[in-house]
Amino acid sequence: MTVSIWQAEDTQPIREVDVLVIGAGLAGCAAAYFAAQAGRSVVITEMRDVALGASSRNAGFMITGPDTYYHRAIELYGHANTRELWALSDKTHRYWREFAKQGDVRLDNCGSMLLAESAEEGKELEAAARALNADGIDVVYHANDPLKRGYFGAVEHPWDAAVQPYELVWTVFKASGAELVNNNEVYKVEQTGADYVTVHTRQFIFQARYVMICTNAYSQFVHPYFAGKVLPTRGQCLVTEPLTENVMPVCGYSDYGYMYYRMTFDNRLLIGGGRKLYKELESTSEDRISDPVQAYLDNYLRTKFPDVTAKVDRRWAGIMGFSVDGLPLIGTIPGSPRIGFAVGFTGHGLAFGSGVAERAVDHLLNGASAGILDAARLG
Ligand SMILES: Cc1cc2nc3c(=O)[nH]c(=O)nc-3n(C[C@H](O)[C@H](O)[C@H](O)COP(=O)(O)OP(=O)(O)OC[C@H]3O[C@@H](n4cnc5c(N)ncnc54)[C@H](O)[C@@H]3O)c2cc1C
Repeated sequence: MTVSIWQAEDTQPIREVDVLVIGAGLAGCAAAYFAAQAGRSVVITEMRDVALGASSRNAGFMITGPDTYYHRAIELYGHANTRELWALSDKTHRYWREFAKQGDVRLDNCGSMLLAESAEEGKELEAAARALNADGIDVVYHANDPLKRGYFGAVEHPWDAAVQPYELVWTVFKASGAELVNNNEVYKVEQTGADYVTVHTRQFIFQARYVMICTNAYSQFVHPYFAGKVLPTRGQCLVTEPLTENVMPVCGYSDYGYMYYRMTFDNRLLIGGGRKLYKELESTSEDRISDPVQAYLDNYLRTKFPDVTAKVDRRWAGIMGFSVDGLPLIGTIPGSPRIGFAVGFTGHGLAFGSGVAERAVDHLLNGASAGILDAARLG
């Protein structure tokens, strides 16, 4: 939203706070939780309400690891870093499971399968399975399609899960004990003193000791530092009417992550992805579905699941924040050591959200290392 000359006169009431988190998605609520655990008093400011961004529009896959197949991640990021990423994702899932238990959040321990859409992808998955097993990660490699739907092999992660993400984020928010100021967009953040930050919002001007930016896809609109570093990328899904059979017993993930599918808790088939051929069109923060991607998803439903005759009941979109190198970003804004961030989840917020939020809070409050996720790597 734009800011008028009248709004920019800064007549809003001033509020002093200790830690101010911007954004109440899974990252912001987890950051609020860890800051509160560190003894801080925390306020979250959110332009909509809890979890109304990508965090309640995703497919709810808790798949361990980054968005690149394991052996390719080793090539891209190095072996030690890839292990670090895996451990962080594992830790993230442990946190989500603890929260899920506390909040009675629906979570299905169905496992996941990375599936090959071509013989070439099948070879990639075989290499990924070998690299995972060599690192002591006990995945199961299937040379043939275990689902009998025309895939070219699979890697099974039996410990992965499918979650109800909206319930999860609300549970994390409640566990944080933080105060929420909703309907309160931030339009300027600046470190104005050695030990405080001024945050201009619609309702208040906050003077905060520390600020944690958790606005993922929208980060460039909060601070120019993120322009060209976190790119808004639209993701889309459809879901059928309830089925009488479970046609997808795991979280399925194929075409190098461009396609994904699962059953919902009321036995509908959810299919998401389909943006591979439409990357330019889908490089947007506009929250609406697009015809070409939805047609692609429809076609996938018809060809891969010809046994499903139920109608499509709902279609939706959400905006993800893709970092330029595919990994989340932790750091502080250069020259503003009191303004931290945890952004750039690249479609994998459930894989990394709480682990990254914890590390980002520790980095901001205590100067702890951000490891491979240190945003300084991007210059
Ligand atoms: C269709 C789709 C499917 C996906 N599937 C999966 C999946 O299966 N597994 C997985 O791990 N990940 C998946 N993801 C990605 C996952 O949803 C995100 O990585 C995750 O939600 C990011 O969480 P976040 O808190 O960083 O961002 P968000 O949930 O987007 O939260 C950011 C918050 O900041 C608020 N905000 C923005 N600007 C301002 C401002 N100026 N002032 C105040 N508040 C502001 C927003 O309103 C929003 O609530 C999917 C995403 C989509 C869209």
